[in-house]
Amino acid sequence: MGSGKVTDWQGKHVTVAGLGVSGVPAAKVLNGLGARVTVVNDGDDERARAQAAELEALGITVRLGDGATLPEGTDLIVTAPGWRPDKPLFAAAAEAGVPVWGDVELAWRLRGPDAAPWLAVTGTNGKTTTVQMLASILRAAGLRTAAVGNIGVSLLDAVLGEEQYDVLAVELSSYQLHWAPSLRAHSAAVLNLAPDHLDWHGSMEAYVADKGRIYEGNRVACVYNVADKATEDLVREADVEEGCRAIGFTLGTPAPSQLGVVDGILVDRAFVEGRQKNAQELAEVSDVNPPAPHNVANALAAAALARAFGVPAGAVREGLRSFTPDAHRIAHVADVDGVAYVDDSKATNTHAAEASLAAYESIVWIAGGLAKGATFDELVARSAKRLRGVVLIGADRALIGEALTRHAPEVPVVDLDRTDTGAMRAAVQEARRLAHSGDTVLLAPACASMDMFANYNKRGDAFAEAVRELGTAGA
Ligand code: ADP
Repeated sequence: MGSGKVTDWQGKHVTVAGLGVSGVPAAKVLNGLGARVTVVNDGDDERARAQAAELEALGITVRLGDGATLPEGTDLIVTAPGWRPDKPLFAAAAEAGVPVWGDVELAWRLRGPDAAPWLAVTGTNGKTTTVQMLASILRAAGLRTAAVGNIGVSLLDAVLGEEQYDVLAVELSSYQLHWAPSLRAHSAAVLNLAPDHLDWHGSMEAYVADKGRIYEGNRVACVYNVADKATEDLVREADVEEGCRAIGFTLGTPAPSQLGVVDGILVDRAFVEGRQKNAQELAEVSDVNPPAPHNVANALAAAALARAFGVPAGAVREGLRSFTPDAHRIAHVADVDGVAYVDDSKATNTHAAEASLAAYESIVWIAGGLAKGATFDELVARSAKRLRGVVLIGADRALIGEALTRHAPEVPVVDLDRTDTGAMRAAVQEARRLAHSGDTVLLAPACASMDMFANYNKRGDAFAEAVRELGTAGA
């Protein structure tokens, strides 16, 4: 089962674990290659039954309501990336010597012989933005490319579809990396490492180790964050191809083999002739949208991967200029009475919120939601000096409130004890009361949204709508 050759799959019994975004297409593709496919799924709801009926019509066996037992005669498991490694199905697989692949591993194995190389990105925060910047830069260089992977575009489609690519910009989550043992990228970047998803991985060490897999077998460059030593340690530990280089990115002045910033200019001291003495100007900080420090770091990482692929400096500038970030990522909603209202609803963990808060001088911070086991002391202590005031919302707001009492007792806090649909409007009105002209009202909740909203998009939409109401009311 080493490659995508059709003959390799004839008669093989593949168990696909989990219906859903990756499971359904994987089952269909494997079935089409001649494998005998069984799909197992924990749930047995209406949606699962509809999906099961569709697959059964193709001759695929589907077992609903039991994702724990290993089907008899399984040669390979292809799992949804979100399935936790401590599930009984995987214990049974290990016992029986059955390999387990995730969706990324499957796509990697099914690539054709002339497949496009992968430029891969992971990290706790900034993955989607960086991969989109990278795709924009590659496009500006005239390359056929797409931003794929964890970003919502299936790698399987990219690898097996009609469209021809020169190179792929691939976002990988820690889950996907866990299940992708043989992936070998052209070049890869780990943007940053902060505790996240630890319940899934079991420990910070296991989480970091899974992230580090992205560097395994890199051919040209392993890109790391100079400000985050753990990313550099991962490069050192990785087993890479002969000649593969470690390339750092920094918001400071770059050393040789690094990309960095000098006097508001993004410069490359890695992919230039005579890097001891020379540097190549790539773009200006103002070409990065938005030019918040953490986003400039994302731009440097994207530029490093593009340069590793041989992209000229001019395309970096052009690609960064034509990039527009996805919604709810430091999106400027409106100015009302000299106060800027910014929606960073996507800041769903403390590391992201800290980066967001670091981008503004004087902030009324709207925060709270589901903490997912996080603690807020460090975030609050480091950001306290920027806080004009805080409005707390959501289920776990008391945790942030307690951290504020400990580390920023002088900062006024409004504790909104409501979770109804009008709560965000009330939060924005309270924020307006606290803000002075020149301040930024920043929605960067440091928490997940599901206690009050369907997802972070809806939370950001509610914020933007409330801000627009302020604008009309105040006009
Ligand atoms: P991901 O795909 O990793 O979730 P996104 O690009 O969607 O990352 O950004 C998610 C959030 O993380 C942003 O809204 C912002 O608050 C924060 N963020 C983005 N880039 C960085 C970074 N380099 N360091 C820290 N936080 C970041």
